[in-house]
Amino acid sequence: MIEEAAKLIAKAKFLIAFTGAGISAESGVPTFRGSGGLWEKYRIEEVATPEAFRRNPKLVWEFYKMRMRKMKDAKPNKAHLTLAELEDMGILKAVITQNIDDLHREAGNKRIIELHGNIYRVKCSYCDYIENLKESGRVERFLAEKELPKCPKCSNLLRPDVVWFGESLPEKELSEAFNLARRSDVCLVIGTSGQVYPAAYIPYITKEHGGYIIEVNVNEGGITPIADVFLRGKAGEIMEELLKKVKELRK
Ligand code: NAD
Ligand code: ZN
Repeated sequence: MIEEAAKLIAKAKFLIAFTGAGISAESGVPTFRGSGGLWEKYRIEEVATPEAFRRNPKLVWEFYKMRMRKMKDAKPNKAHLTLAELEDMGILKAVITQNIDDLHREAGNKRIIELHGNIYRVKCSYCDYIENLKESGRVERFLAEKELPKCPKCSNLLRPDVVWFGESLPEKELSEAFNLARRSDVCLVIGTSGQVYPAAYIPYITKEHGGYIIEVNVNEGGITPIADVFLRGKAGEIMEELLKKVKELRK
């Protein structure tokens, strides 16, 4: 099985990776669904919708600051690092991620398409103000602030620059992702339940255009029916072994 996947990757002309919360589980970032998932503790409609933010911005900010703290302490694991190495080797052309945790960037990947935003970006709920707290060096100060965050330009509330349920995905990112999916001859799907659309279309587009799908996950999910190779296991462990085999084939 893993040999078959390694062969597909070693021969790929345009490999892309499509990742979800599961790739960051071994970094200690909780997933949404599944045991220990965030939805066991919080209700979606109370923390991750535009209505929730209008109703109770305090609770929503509490939730996102909690997640920012967790993500800030997390380090990329073997799966993220393997993707960075595959890009360095010239095999992997892009990572399309549903994650907001910034761990692909931390790992060193260069071409990253973030479909659901980034936990370190905040934007004004009213004007066009946008800030990346990592780049402005304000993460710690922002987390320590007790008051709700306000826009420095217009004083309206700042909100996380993430895609909430019921919101559309950023247009540029989505069309870039779909274009990459059409071009790609192998799509490596890691740690996603494949239940959140339109993101979950990505491997389906590759498949429709004659490409192969390799899936890495501890459980089967929405992408599994079209997977040519399904590798059951933890992303870090599987990806490490897969990279070793790819390197042997390319020697
Ligand atoms: P999900 O929570 O719906 O599914 C997680 C998937 O990961 C499941 O299929 C599960 O079987 C798998 N998984 C769990 N541990 C794994 C491991 N060690 N190795 C491999 N697979 C593992 O996540 P999703 O599919 O990404 O979709 C839900 C939404 O969750 C996305 O929009 C994403 O933005 C958001 N989210 C992001 C983060 C993050 O940024 N790290 C964390 C939680 C949720
Ligand atoms: Zn503003």
